[in-house]
Amino acid sequence: MLVLDKFSIGIGDRFAHQAKAQLRAFQMLAKEGVDVVPVWNKSNREHTFIGSEPQSVFDAGQAAVKGLGWRKSWHVDADHIRLDNVDRFIPCSDFFTIDVADSIGKPASASDVQAFVARHPELVGTVEIIGINEPFTTTQSDVVRVASKYLLAVQDAGVIYRHIAKAKGEGNMIAEVSMDETDAPQTPSELLVILAALADEKIRLQTIAPKFTGRFNKGVDYMGDLVLFEKEFNDDLAIAAHAVATYGLPTNLKLSVHSGSDKFSLYPMIRRACARTGAGMHLKTAGTTWLEELIGLAEAGGDGLSLAKEIYAYALEHVEELCAPYASVIDIDRTKLPAASQVNQWSGPRFASVMRHIPGHPEFNLNVRQLLHVSFKLAAKAGSRYTDLLKVNEEIVGKQVTENIYDRHMRALFLG
Ligand SMILES: [Zn+2]
Repeated sequence: MLVLDKFSIGIGDRFAHQAKAQLRAFQMLAKEGVDVVPVWNKSNREHTFIGSEPQSVFDAGQAAVKGLGWRKSWHVDADHIRLDNVDRFIPCSDFFTIDVADSIGKPASASDVQAFVARHPELVGTVEIIGINEPFTTTQSDVVRVASKYLLAVQDAGVIYRHIAKAKGEGNMIAEVSMDETDAPQTPSELLVILAALADEKIRLQTIAPKFTGRFNKGVDYMGDLVLFEKEFNDDLAIAAHAVATYGLPTNLKLSVHSGSDKFSLYPMIRRACARTGAGMHLKTAGTTWLEELIGLAEAGGDGLSLAKEIYAYALEHVEELCAPYASVIDIDRTKLPAASQVNQWSGPRFASVMRHIPGHPEFNLNVRQLLHVSFKLAAKAGSRYTDLLKVNEEIVGKQVTENIYDRHMRALFLG
């Protein structure tokens, strides 16, 4: 069985130019004695926006691995795939994030729900979980309610899983199930029901991405109740360990934190929780690297800075249209977006400081950052003009990419 190691970080590389710069951060961390596995992820949606093929993710990852002499594991994640779009990912991916959020809340058949409840008497009554102080008290109607909400999604996951396993061989794939792109978070007691159902589907689940409480906005810090998050995260870890012991899920099953970049206030909690329990963790990031490209181009000045300014000006004129698909994962205060005429006066380093995520930096502007986060389509539209600038400015751009992952993400998550 292909096993995902204890700690892994998903890295997105929208334009397939930063794999080396990303991998360098993993090498630096390994030098500090912490082994974390890189997983290059790109969703069907991103491929569609950019006009790229899944094979390009594998090729870029492999080139970086060879170029830098990386001898440890690495993976390619077909991110947020569904049955209707997974096929072109199968030959070039070994990690599959099976997205079933759309089926949450759609009713499963009453007889399937009944059969599930009958199969799982242990879920009813007082459920003691090691690591959670107060045991859950669950009635049969609670289990029926939760099963009715999630069983169809879990059955969908089973169909997609078996489809991939048939093509690829069950031993040659890492399966993640994601439920993060939905309205309501899943509570720990719901997660237990979901994991029991996923085990019934015989999915060899290595990671699960629940929706946590609070806002996981793109490219900025967590917004929500930190105390509540910490409790929920710890409870979810306990639930996952319980589900492994009770339902025979793979022993390396871990939580996957999606939209995980830039959540600086959560990293100390995640680090503590993993240290205390011995649990692993997958942190998925993606768009934070595209922002570092833009920061690098701004820093570089000249044509790079001009294009960065052009992208901002265009984005500002098309805020509604660019933000609409991301309404649930961005919070932009439009009154805090500077006019294009003002931005056009800025030096490269000034523009870079506005975008770069250093909380407390007097020039950092999280509204500009979020707007540019969802504006990567504009760089795709610029085509080779954009990617040629990435090549010409490889060094300064790569430096931003590596530092962002290593200094602001990895250090906080693994070194403290
Ligand atoms: Zn996700």
